[in-house]
Amino acid sequence: MLIGVDIDDVLAEFVAALCPFHNEKYGTSLTKKDIFSYDFSEVWGGTGEEAVQKILEFQLSSEFKELAPVKGAQKATRNIDLEHDLITISSRPKVVYGETWRWLDYHFSSTFSELHFTNEVHRQDGEPLIRKTDICKELGVDVLIDDYLKTTLACAEQGIPALLIDQPWNRAMSLPEKVTRVYSWQEIQERIEDRNF
Ligand SMILES: [Mg+2]
Repeated sequence: MLIGVDIDDVLAEFVAALCPFHNEKYGTSLTKKDIFSYDFSEVWGGTGEEAVQKILEFQLSSEFKELAPVKGAQKATRNIDLEHDLITISSRPKVVYGETWRWLDYHFSSTFSELHFTNEVHRQDGEPLIRKTDICKELGVDVLIDDYLKTTLACAEQGIPALLIDQPWNRAMSLPEKVTRVYSWQEIQERIEDRNF
């Protein structure tokens, strides 16, 4: 199978590092469990554009270069890679493409063969919209692993199954049949081995 894997809060502890960065800079006292929405302006106020700017500041910081890998992700992806193809798909801005490859290479060696960026968040004038679902369809991704509820719902609508990693910001009441909530990388590995999703 071809397995698409999101990066932030799936492979990399993004929000756990974003919170202290935001606290220091803007005097808040956020922790990961306070992040009830990934539309961050709903959490800390301001406009959506301001939130994207704040995130970009973080993405250009030294703290961003040192995100910790998510617990269990290295071992599980190494095991999954023995039988399947793994690629990464992210909505990070293009400016951190090289840095993202460096981080993946450092923490995940050669587990991931490709890195694709969408432009859903950072789209330049005149650029056609490239969403995660477009990339998944084009490449023939069999299952997507992500933490962003809307992306998993969009995939499900297109017939692509998704594993949704449980996070404070994605707790919908009910999920469609093709979206499965998962609680650890160990569970992800087992479900992929058993094709149980
Ligand atoms: Mg993510």
